[in-house]
Amino acid sequence: MFAIFQKSYLAILAGVTALALGTAALAQDSVIQVADGVYAFDPGDEYNSMFIVTDEGVIAIEPVNSQHAAGMLEAIRSVTDQPVKYLLHSHNHWDHSNGGNVFREAGATIIAHEEAFAWMKGNPHPDLALPDESWSGDKTEITLGGTTLELHYFGMNHGLGMTVFLLPEEKVAYIADIVTPNRVLFAIVPDFNIKEWLRTLDEVAQLDFEQAVYSHSASGSPIGTKEDVTLTAAFITDMQAAIGAEFQKGTGFTDIPGAVKLPKYEHWAGYDMWLPLNVYRVMLDMWMGPFPWRAD
Ligand SMILES: [Zn+2]
Repeated sequence: MFAIFQKSYLAILAGVTALALGTAALAQDSVIQVADGVYAFDPGDEYNSMFIVTDEGVIAIEPVNSQHAAGMLEAIRSVTDQPVKYLLHSHNHWDHSNGGNVFREAGATIIAHEEAFAWMKGNPHPDLALPDESWSGDKTEITLGGTTLELHYFGMNHGLGMTVFLLPEEKVAYIADIVTPNRVLFAIVPDFNIKEWLRTLDEVAQLDFEQAVYSHSASGSPIGTKEDVTLTAAFITDMQAAIGAEFQKGTGFTDIPGAVKLPKYEHWAGYDMWLPLNVYRVMLDMWMGPFPWRAD
């Protein structure tokens, strides 16, 4: 069975067991401490969030959807009585940005980058809460209870308003979608500008962090390291080189997705199913030029 789906199936089984044991057990199992006051939330639905507990309140990152957000709120409650002051979005896409109302009802102020905010305004969804505030530019900070969280925007890469979060003191980052440890690129590589993505990965690798919570991970843990960032960039450039070699050989366009093999990454989740789709998308980008694109 395909590893990712097998994990989901196991997660459903685990969820049923946890339900039988009571919700407290579920909250306990899904929370992993990353650093002092920093927690990853991994309920087994393929989406990982992060929250930061200070003595003046909690900062939550990535609601995903109402069910995930409700589980996350419960997880927060399992470690602190502090109120949730902020809910922060990584980017626009519904599969990450839904569920905000759970935190709004808990009293949190919802914040997204202005590009993500504009998209959300233009593309409503029944489970999407429009943020209360937006921020602009390349960087901003939120300080709460003596903890500083940096919000970094690197321009085009994936979706709109993609924000990489950094706790400089704790050296912990939260990174959505642009890095997924131990997995090939997502399916048809939707809404990624490959060139700007590679540039972004380079810039993210220059941030000072030792651990990162990844929104998706096939490593068995939501927590990874900076090496996952450089490995993702290497995977993309290795794929581009392999596609370029097929262009050189004169391999027919439609034969290239089946011809490209990257045995170095054979052990990564999705290799058999998604590598040909990844190649198709990256090949089109190399042939047509980077897309989607806009002048900044
Ligand atoms: Zn996305």
